[in-house]
Amino acid sequence: MAARDPFGPGLLRSRFFWNLLASYAALLLVTGVLVGWQVQSRLEASLLRDLQETLRRDCEMLAPLASEALRGDVPASLAGELQRLSRATGMRTTFVAADGRVALDSSEDARAMDDHSSRPEIVQARAETFGGARRRSHTVGLDMLYVARRLDEGYSEGDSEGSEGKRVLGFVRVALPVSQIEGQLASARRSVVLGTGAGVLLALVLGLVLSQHFVRPIAAMKRTAQDLLAGRYDSRVRVTRRDELGLLGETLNALGAETTRRIAALSQEDAQLRAVLAGMIEGVVAVDEADRVAFMNEAARELLQVAEPAPEGLTLWKLAPVRELEGLLGRARTSAAPERSEVELFRGGKERVFQAHASPFQGGGKAGFVLVLHDITELRRLERVRRDFVANVSHELKTPLTSIQGFVETLLSGALEDKQNNVRFLKTIEANVKRLTSLVTDLLSLARIESGALEVESAVVDWRDVLEQVLRLREPALLAKELRLEVRGRERPLRVRGDREAMTQVLDNLLDNAVQYTPGRGRVVVSLASRDGRGSIAVEDTGIGIPSADLDRIFERFYRVDKARSRAAGGTGLGLSIVKNLVLRMQGEVTVSSVEGQGSTFTVLLPLG
Ligand code: ADP
Repeated sequence: MAARDPFGPGLLRSRFFWNLLASYAALLLVTGVLVGWQVQSRLEASLLRDLQETLRRDCEMLAPLASEALRGDVPASLAGELQRLSRATGMRTTFVAADGRVALDSSEDARAMDDHSSRPEIVQARAETFGGARRRSHTVGLDMLYVARRLDEGYSEGDSEGSEGKRVLGFVRVALPVSQIEGQLASARRSVVLGTGAGVLLALVLGLVLSQHFVRPIAAMKRTAQDLLAGRYDSRVRVTRRDELGLLGETLNALGAETTRRIAALSQEDAQLRAVLAGMIEGVVAVDEADRVAFMNEAARELLQVAEPAPEGLTLWKLAPVRELEGLLGRARTSAAPERSEVELFRGGKERVFQAHASPFQGGGKAGFVLVLHDITELRRLERVRRDFVANVSHELKTPLTSIQGFVETLLSGALEDKQNNVRFLKTIEANVKRLTSLVTDLLSLARIESGALEVESAVVDWRDVLEQVLRLREPALLAKELRLEVRGRERPLRVRGDREAMTQVLDNLLDNAVQYTPGRGRVVVSLASRDGRGSIAVEDTGIGIPSADLDRIFERFYRVDKARSRAAGGTGLGLSIVKNLVLRMQGEVTVSSVEGQGSTFTVLLPLG
């Protein structure tokens, strides 16, 4: 296409080029016509003037002959002579007497001709010596140019002025048909038209070539502007001139550069914003004024269960039909202010609670809303745990306190003297005080572990040493219940990374539970082993076991399968909670497996030392 375009790519298709060319051609045409007309009319006038001058001279030449002829002394052959001359030159000669009678005419019979005194050239000549006219001849019926000269009485050659006082003898008149100069005029007109036409054509060609000089840079700028519009921001104009067009090109280039810079900055900001929003745990959804989803981050897509990529142009209700969210947005729209509400959603078979915020925003001339969904399930759970904990603590403390208060009142109201019972009562009080003490001790140690106040060392400790120490302490209880103790893996040291005191407390708690929840003549097995880079100690018993429904919760504070039984055994319900917290602080793990009625196994894993 470009190869067939002699003026550069697309130039012939440029509207501007054609407009420029059309205006230029119109201007040239008007100028050409005006100049041609002017030249033509001047040429015509000059030709006529020359002719008139010739005729005048002819008059002058014929004047002596005419004077003689009008006086009457003309040779008879004069008429014939004049006719011959007239035929040869095409010039008509007429001698007119003072009274207007035609004395002689080279073309016609003078006697048949009418009075010529009123002919304009004669009238003018009578007054001014010479008279001229261009008109149609009555006599010969042609368009003629006439020149007449007045002849005065006593005329002598060269006497053309000073007619005052002299009597008019007559007139000599010469005439030529205008058609004679018409040919000359036509050829002059042809030359003018040709000359002007050639000039106009030449100017047009020149204009065509010169117009490229203006059209090319404009076409280039148009292409660059279209490129910028289409997003090709690296497109630039080649600036080769210093005039306004060059300046325009430079401005366009600057515009391109600035747009590139701004787009880059905006894209970077956009990318950063998107990265931030994508990295947020909160779900963020932006909807426009018609509730159509304009943006949705990863978290929102996940919790509202919207496919990726989200179909465009759909309302939030089509994508994620959640009644509470619809209501929340409706309220925010009515109040035109931020609104919040709690939304419950079932996800992965579990109920999750979200705090949803809807805030109006103005962006790009559009008004919409931003929905932020914050998962507060864990927060709510912790609040419940705290509430339960306070209730549990109060309850746990209240029972022994009520008991102590009851027995103290009984003793004070006379039972002190009751020799048979007073010691029993005091023993009960003592048991309750012990219970309170162990409760408060457990609570305190739990609080210290959870708050981080308890320093947990990370030393290399051999589980065997800890086991020896704990067994020495728990041996009497094992013996008392006639429980068989078996220790496996004590031949080799099992060094792990941990805090000796914490490890002692963990193992003591687990052994204590094994003794508590295993009926007499049962068996307790403690196994030491190392696997997968960790050292494990398992405490297995053949006790009552734990129902599978409770397995998940036995590490919670105050959680007990059988409250009465635990309490009777002096349990606080805090032992396993302390175990779990201590193990976690030592970067370890504690697991449980149990079959109700058959026994339980608690396993503690710590990193090998
Ligand atoms: P407690 O002071 O009541 O023993 P723990 O936190 O140590 O409190 O244990 C919580 C509950 O877990 C106990 O009340 C008991 O129901 C159950 N449990 C713990 N260890 C065992 C075990 N070895 N066998 C059976 N049940 C156990």
